Amino acid sequence: MPSGSGSLMWFRKGLRVHDNPALEYASRGSTCVYPLFVIDPHYMELDPNAYSPGSTRAGINRIRFLLESLADLDSSLKKLGSRLLVLKGEPSEVLIRCLNEWDVRKLCFEYDTDPYYQALDDKVKNYASAAGIEVFSPVSHTIFDPADIIEKNGGRPPLSYQSFLKLAGEPSFSLSVELSWMPPVGDVGRCEILQVPTLKELGYVEKHQDDFTPFRGGESEALRRLRESLSDKEWVANFEKPKGDPSAYIKPATTVLSPYLKFGCLSSRYFYQCLKDVYKNVKRHTSPPVSLVGQLLWREFFYTVAFGTPNFDEMKGNKICKQVSGDESTEFSRWLCLKGEKGKNGCDCNLILIPWNDDDKLLAAWREARTGYPWIDAIMVQLRKWGWMHHLARHSVACFLTRGDLFVHWEKGRDIFERLLIDSDWAINNGNWLWLSCSSFFYQRISDMPKEYIYEPWTAPLSVQTKAKCIIGRDYPKPGLLSHLVLHDTASNECRKKMGQAYALNQRLNGRVSEEDLRKLR
Ligand code: FAD
Repeated sequence: MPSGSGSLMWFRKGLRVHDNPALEYASRGSTCVYPLFVIDPHYMELDPNAYSPGSTRAGINRIRFLLESLADLDSSLKKLGSRLLVLKGEPSEVLIRCLNEWDVRKLCFEYDTDPYYQALDDKVKNYASAAGIEVFSPVSHTIFDPADIIEKNGGRPPLSYQSFLKLAGEPSFSLSVELSWMPPVGDVGRCEILQVPTLKELGYVEKHQDDFTPFRGGESEALRRLRESLSDKEWVANFEKPKGDPSAYIKPATTVLSPYLKFGCLSSRYFYQCLKDVYKNVKRHTSPPVSLVGQLLWREFFYTVAFGTPNFDEMKGNKICKQVSGDESTEFSRWLCLKGEKGKNGCDCNLILIPWNDDDKLLAAWREARTGYPWIDAIMVQLRKWGWMHHLARHSVACFLTRGDLFVHWEKGRDIFERLLIDSDWAINNGNWLWLSCSSFFYQRISDMPKEYIYEPWTAPLSVQTKAKCIIGRDYPKPGLLSHLVLHDTASNECRKKMGQAYALNQRLNGRVSEEDLRKLR
């Protein structure tokens, strides 16, 4: 049993002092608190071989944003009488060493649903529990606890936004108490504590300020941006997505709070509460899915689906994703699926063959803004330079890469977004790529569409769309965004044909297939 009454507050995301229940609990009744951040060299250190500056996992803009957020957190903690302790190394090893050497009775950290943290946290929690250290790990990165929603839905994540809303209802969190002081930092013994490093110290060449993303990291900037957005109550009340100009760069059409939510510099619960307060004071306001609250609920939706779906970030073994050709498409595997048994990849009767191509030249042209389509190339330049783009811009380039024109596998585009976005978020990024490439979610929406419209559902008369419970533009995306560039382009037609064939095959496989067909498949 540990003898002291100190706490270790382990920061990962949640880089804030406002609405931080883990920090509040760590501070309560403790003689000392160790506020710790561990630098994982794989995440931050320069990879000289990367195709654009950054580490293997993150582009330079996100690394810089993170360092700024840590410096801001350190400064806020100092105002409360504490400071941020920075250590470097493999996180679980560093944590276990600290728990061994420091005066720790309570280990506190925000609960994280990402698979990386689930595995890491299990290791650390097991060690702490065996050592008699109390572990406190509250859900505060999201408004709802994804596990609660999944439980309410009989153990499965809801696969549509509307069913998510129904299950979720009104949230019932209470914001944590604002701290006015903190217990002092405990004795760190022989541990070599670092300052928050600069980019230069991590091996990066300092660039001219204008070459970086214009968005500065940190809680102070997050709260300033939030105040600025909320000060225009009419704008908040009338917010409607997808309306808004995706090419507005000087004053973006949306809040640009995503990188702050990603790192937890801004509490999503606090954001939600502030929006509700604005709504109370206006006569009328928009509603989900298009309102600002609706945007936050999209985030919750993707977190819930991601948490409840094994292998969410890949095609193989992901029950909600259409499967790929190749090994998974062997006739034997199809036959197993038709029999209702699980195929090799663990899929249920959800097999579809989207023949994504593997053309690295096309991928490189997209990544390096060399497609020849100015709108697409401009967005890809913005991704590299800023690490942030408007939702509709992301929408355009993701469609273009996948089902729209190039028919390149969504996982490849996802990887590039994952590295370069400053708001790169495991659940949201994968969820949107699955959605945009038509590899999941949408297929359920168009499954009742008559065959003659399945390739071009937007050409179906409204009465047919209503009957199919799929209004184009509401339940399924309009082809609109790309249409002025490529609608009649051969590539686009070719992609639609391939996607249509894959969906038709899925329909055949997923149901009413004759014995004759079945025999052929065997
Ligand atoms: P606002 O419109 O001001 O919305 C407020 C908040 O709501 C956002 O900050 C975000 O947290 C949430 N939100 C808004 N739209 C969505 C959405 N479609 N799905 C989930 N949450 C949403 N967003 C990320 O945060 N990280 C990602 O890695 C990411 N990858 C994406 C990849 C693709 C292919 C696409 C099409 C979208 C992706 N998005 C991602 C969703 C969305 O584009 C961004 O959240 C949004 O553009 C961020 O800008 P904002 O903060 O101004 O949003």
